[in-house]
Amino acid sequence: MKLSKEGEKMQGQDLCAAENRGVRELGAEKLVGWDEVQQGVVINSFEGDATDIVHKKAEERVYSDFNSYTATVASWRVQKPVFNMDVCIDCQNCWVWCPDSSIISRDKQMLGIDYDHCKGCGVCVEVCPTNPKSLLMFAEYTELETALSGWPEKTKKEEK
Ligand code: SF4
Ligand code: SF4
Repeated sequence: MKLSKEGEKMQGQDLCAAENRGVRELGAEKLVGWDEVQQGVVINSFEGDATDIVHKKAEERVYSDFNSYTATVASWRVQKPVFNMDVCIDCQNCWVWCPDSSIISRDKQMLGIDYDHCKGCGVCVEVCPTNPKSLLMFAEYTELETALSGWPEKTKKEEK
């Protein structure tokens, strides 16, 4: 299983990744200009017969090199969300709202962040309803242990 450096540190969770997730850095390859694209070309997202692909789990699909699943944009990020599973209530809000499908969830259980595709927008942190939040933004270089050790306490409601 191929995981990014951050993914490997994710609290020992199996992040449900296929082997070729994030194997190439987007923008590192030679780009083709709009006027160089062959007319009528078909770009397949999957290798082989994809008729029943919707019923396959992400790690079971065979992605083609044209599928963004095989690319990583991790270097675009300056901040990253860190997940604290001790606070999470598996509400799936972050999964619904993430604009880059970078929340990894299986059987309605939040498992972690796909750091190969997360762009650090912070939307998941905004929509997380727990107190304290189960997702917080940290500088990209922050170690997981450092982030978790400084996690804020539950805030009490102010009495009127
Ligand atoms: S920071 Fe943005 S892209 Fe990354 S997991 Fe959260 S919502 Fe998705
Ligand atoms: S929004 Fe927060 S509490 Fe809900 S699943 Fe995501 S991390 Fe967990």
